Order: sequence, then C-alpha cells, then structure tokens
Amino acid sequence: MLKWNTPARIAIVALAMTCGYATPVVAGEMRVSDAEAFRAAVDAASPGDTIVLADGEWHDFESVFQGEGEPGRPITLRAETPGGAVLTGQSRLRLAGRHLVVSGLVFRDGHTPSGEVIAFRRNSEHLAHHSRVTGVVIDRFNPPERAESDHWVVLYGRNNRFDHNHLVGKNNAGVTLAVRLNTEDSRENGHRIDHNYFGPRPILGSNGGETLRIGTSHYSMFDSLTVVENNWFERCDGEVEIISSKSGGNLFRNNVFHESRGTLTLRHGNGNRVEDNVFLGNGVPNTGGIRVINQRQVVRGNYLEGLTGYRFGAGLTIMNGVPDSPVNRYMPVADVVVENNTLVDVDHVELAAGSDAERSAVPTDTVFRDNLVRDADDRAVFGIHDDIGGIGFEGNVATPAVAAQFGGGFEAESLVMARAENGLLYPSDPRWRGKGASPDLVVTPRDATGVGWYAKPDLGDAGTRPVRRVTAAEGELFDAVVAAAPGDIIELAPGAYRVQKLLRIDRPLTFRGAAGQERPRVRFERTALFELVPGGRLELQSLDIDGAAAPDRAGNAVIRTQRSAMTDNYSLALRDVRIANLDVNHGFDVLAVAKGTFADAIVIENSVFETISGAVLALDVERDDLGLYNAEVIDITGSRFTDIGGPVMTVYRGGRDESTFGPRVMVAASTFENVGHGARNRDHASITLHGVQRVTIHDNGFTASAPVRVVETVGEPVTRVFDNTLDDTGEPVIGPLETS
Ligand code: CA
Repeated sequence: MLKWNTPARIAIVALAMTCGYATPVVAGEMRVSDAEAFRAAVDAASPGDTIVLADGEWHDFESVFQGEGEPGRPITLRAETPGGAVLTGQSRLRLAGRHLVVSGLVFRDGHTPSGEVIAFRRNSEHLAHHSRVTGVVIDRFNPPERAESDHWVVLYGRNNRFDHNHLVGKNNAGVTLAVRLNTEDSRENGHRIDHNYFGPRPILGSNGGETLRIGTSHYSMFDSLTVVENNWFERCDGEVEIISSKSGGNLFRNNVFHESRGTLTLRHGNGNRVEDNVFLGNGVPNTGGIRVINQRQVVRGNYLEGLTGYRFGAGLTIMNGVPDSPVNRYMPVADVVVENNTLVDVDHVELAAGSDAERSAVPTDTVFRDNLVRDADDRAVFGIHDDIGGIGFEGNVATPAVAAQFGGGFEAESLVMARAENGLLYPSDPRWRGKGASPDLVVTPRDATGVGWYAKPDLGDAGTRPVRRVTAAEGELFDAVVAAAPGDIIELAPGAYRVQKLLRIDRPLTFRGAAGQERPRVRFERTALFELVPGGRLELQSLDIDGAAAPDRAGNAVIRTQRSAMTDNYSLALRDVRIANLDVNHGFDVLAVAKGTFADAIVIENSVFETISGAVLALDVERDDLGLYNAEVIDITGSRFTDIGGPVMTVYRGGRDESTFGPRVMVAASTFENVGHGARNRDHASITLHGVQRVTIHDNGFTASAPVRVVETVGEPVTRVFDNTLDDTGEPVIGPLETS
C-alpha cells in the first residue's frame, strides 16, 4: 500500500479506486514506494499529474505507465531525486497512451524479463504517442547469456522523444535502441532522438550488435521521418553497423562518433540525410564513417578524421547494388549527393564497394562535389571496385595522390590545415573556403549528452596499479586473488607454488614474477588453474606453469572460461611465460572456452610452450554456423611451441554473415617443432583457422610439424602467409570453403 510520509511540497492527490478518496481536485504529485501504489497512482493520474517513484531500489519492478495526458499538461513519472530510484533484477518499463514523460530512473544490476527494457507500447494494441523519456540511465542491464537477445529501448507510435539518456555497456545480442515501423501508426513517426550518450558497447562477435536501428528490411519502403541529432556514440563497437537506418526520410545531424568501430549505415530505405556529423577515430582499428546504399540519400557537411576502417567499414563507402534486389539485399545507389564533407587522414574510401557477381549494379546519377580529402602521408585512399562512371565528381580538392586517382573533378593540393576553435581541421588557404565541412559546424559537447548526475566512463589510462606481493606459503596466492581489487597486480615471490583451489577471475588481474628474480613455478591440483568468469580479464607475466600435478583426466586446461555462456567479454595476455607438461591425459589445453564466451583479445608474447597433449588456444566451440566465434583478435609473437599434440590454435567462425570485423589472427617470429601430430588432432594441423577475416602468419619456423590449414569463407578474407621456413613440414593448405 501507499506510504504517506509525504513531504509538504507534495500535494496529496486522492486515489479514488484504492483509498476511497474523491477524484483529485488539484493536479499534483503522488509519491509511491511500492509496485501496488504505483499501479494505483497510474490508474488515478490525470493530465498535469506527477507520479514520484521513491528513492531506493525497485527490485523486479515490471511497470506499465499508461495514461492520457494533454498537450502542455503531460502525466509525468519521475524519480524522487534524479538517479535515486534504481530498477534492478527483472525490471522493465512500458509506456502507453499520450503525453507521458518519464525521467530520472536508473536500470542497473539486472535485465529485462521480456525482449525490451523500455518500450513505447504496452502491447501491439496500445502504443505511446507524444511521449518522452529523458534523463534515464541504463547501465549494463544484461542477461547472463550473451546470445540471449533483447533491446534496451524500442520506440513505437508517433511523435515520441528520447533525449538526454545514458546507455552504457550492452554486452548481449540485440539493438541498444530500435525504432519499429511494424504497424501503420508507427510510421512517419517524427520521433526525435537527441542528446543521448551512447557509451561503450563492446564487440559482440556476431550480427545484432547495432547501437541504433531504425526500421527493418521488411518495412524499409516506408518513411520513418525520425530525427537523430546531437548524440554521442562513444566506443560503440558492437558490430559493423553503429547505426543501421532501414527506413526512409530520416535525418542524422550533429552527432559525434568517437572511437567507434563501425559505421552509420544507410542500409535500406530512401531519402535519408546525414549532415554535420563528426567522426573521430583517433586511429583506433575499424573505426569508420558513413556507408551509403539506396536512393536519394544526402551526405553533406560531415567531418571525418583518423578513421582506419576498410571495405564496408571505411570512412566513406558507396556500395554497388543488386539488380532487381530483394528487399533484404542491396538496392543500387542512385540520385545520391555527397558534398562538402571533410575527410582527414581517413585510410579508406570505397566506391562501388562490394562489387561481385550478385552486387553488379554500379552507382548512378550520383554527385560527389566540393569535398575535401587530405591525407597527411599523401596516400591514394580511394578504393575503386567497379565502373564509377555514374558518379559525377566536381569541385573537390584533395592531396595529390588522391586527385591522381581521378580523371577530373579534383584539384590537387597539399592542403595545409589548422585546428579551429571547434577542434576540427580547416585548410589555411582561403581559396578552399567553401570546400569540405562548414567552419560554423558546432561539435556537440560530450557534456551536453546524457545526464549530469551519472558519471560517463573514464576512457583514460588507469594510472599506476597497486601491487600485492605473495609468497609460496599455502593459500597465500588464493587469498590474494579473493582480496584483490580490479586492476591489481599480484606479484609472486620466487618459489614453488602448489595451488589447491581454482582461482576464479572475476575482475581484471595481472599475475607476475618479480623483475630480475628467479621465476616462480606454479603447479595446480584442480582441472584448471584459472577460471574466467564475468568481469574477468587475465594477464600472466614471467611465470613458469607446470601441469604435472593436475588430475589424471581428459580435458584439463591451465585457463578456462566458466562452463556456461558469459555476456561480458574477457581478455587474456601471456608474456614471458613458460607452460609445460600438460600431458597427464589427452586434450590438456592451455586455454579452453565454453560456447557463448568471447575474448576481445588474446595476446601471447615471448613465451614457451612444451609437451602439451591438447591445443594451446582452443577457440572452436561455436559450431552452429551462425557467424559466431570465440575471439576477436589473436596475436602471437616471439614464442616457441614444442611437442604440442593439438594445434597451437584452432579458430572457427562458420556461416555466411558479414556483420563482424573479426576474427583476426597474427602469428609472427615464432617457432613450431613437432606440433600437430597428436592422434586426436582431427585436422592434422599446427594451426587451424576457419572463417577468419584477417590472417597474417609470417617469419615463423616450422620443423617436423603438421601444416597450417586455413579455410576462407565470407567477407573478402585476407590471408597472408609469407616468409616462413618449413622443415619436414607440409606447405600451408589455404583455400575456400568447399560447399557441397
Ligand atoms: Ca547488423
């Protein structure tokens, strides 16, 4: 029931249904502190009323906020103090009706029990219109399984606004914010999505990691007329599409894309505008800009700098289309205008991208004018993949190597540039005024997005990290792990460690031997030494690890992920580590992972691996051919592998999906001796790669080892294997997937 510990400033409004009072005579505020009182207040609310959620935790709170406000007299639902009401556990919010406003709530420490955290509808019959969600936080509100899909916010209805919200850390499958056009009264909706802070979203490792999607291919012939402006997209790395626009008539204006891996993609639908946006990649891998498909799109006045992405993830991509394309493939580009954009140190611009037997329709009736392209190293950054006779180039200016790629339409100029007060680069020579982005472009400040009362992630370095010193005395290492804070370094004094309990890693931790001293020797008595659980990141330095004390059973590992799926990504680094004697039984791996787990990066440097019955890195458990895989980047350098029964690594990514950048694999300056001959090594390979997007294997020595085997699948994979020496080892076997 209601608790009437009401501050004087809150007028008491009668609740006719539940409390026997009369209908409210004065519009006012109703403070509620439990779900039942909330429901009663919603039922009783009239235009102009405010329902105040008491500060504190609202656990398993499935709220429906349905009502009919009036223009200028909305019904408001707000936290008692901004950020004070925290929805945890299995909570969600549905809005339905008209002229509703929600503000000040935080969703944290839980996940939605349905497919949506905040929905602008109660069900398919009752939608929200003219309603607003503002100043709301959703922070890592994720289910335990990364493959379990949900959307954090879904806009239905018309004329809704989603602004000044803070959305950070969506780690599972599903779009962060979706606009649906699935019913007639959700089309031509005029929604406004503005001043939101879309914070870091880690790499998902499959399709379905978009931060914003407007429409779906099925309804893409309809206009959405949604405005997306003044938002920040920071490290939104979920997949190749940061924004997937799949409808017509949308406007993307004055947004900032900061170090985000992916692009704003005009995937389906016509007549969209992308204007005055700022893309800053800072050289981060796979940072991209704008990808253009379909007709009557306008890309004007944007500023793009320091973007490294290529192919569909380039700074600017104009695609080839499919003749008579089905709605879910690629409509040809036609009647597109690309003008007054500035591209500074953008590594790749792709024209007629994706040209192949299916995507054979080249761009037509398209103009590319008054753009400014400057590359500090004077590289030819345009990739031209088909006939671009249908693109008219006029009045552009570019550094000489770019200009030389075209017969006309570009002036060659070294382009001296200086940073203006808005932080962007402009040519110093007034002759080029009118080319590229406008000097009047206002870059949306980060502080103007999200909310002031909930801290944005600190993206800087963590600074000096505390060191905890332990000795080989029984239990000391285990106790240090339990007590460590995230980011701590646990330094092992020299000695023989015997670890009797599994070390569970649920936070970033580094284990290292002390510099300049004899390396600690670690044995373990369980089936694994380390188990990575959600939140864990592990780095090992200058240690000797020996598997001889592990139980005599198959399938041990030095490091394993928990046996169920994890939504949090982990990472692993081994530096100057020696791992040996993993041979008490078969299938003893260095790293073994569970389905539904994902590593951002696995790095092995200057390390030694000897006498191992299984694999060093077993990353091949996603066998459903759905485009899923287990690690984004695997990088091995300067290491030695001797007497390894399994492959040094096996990486598997199956299926035809093209939504991911990874996996990427690099192996360099390492030696392999008697690797891959184990009876249980199915592929009889020293390295087994399937569906890896970028492979670089160079300057390695292979002796008496099984061959490297690479199966190439989708996405124009790049496989570079060179300058390796092969002694009593077969040539690398590299080829496309054989389809039957
Ligand atoms: Ca996608």
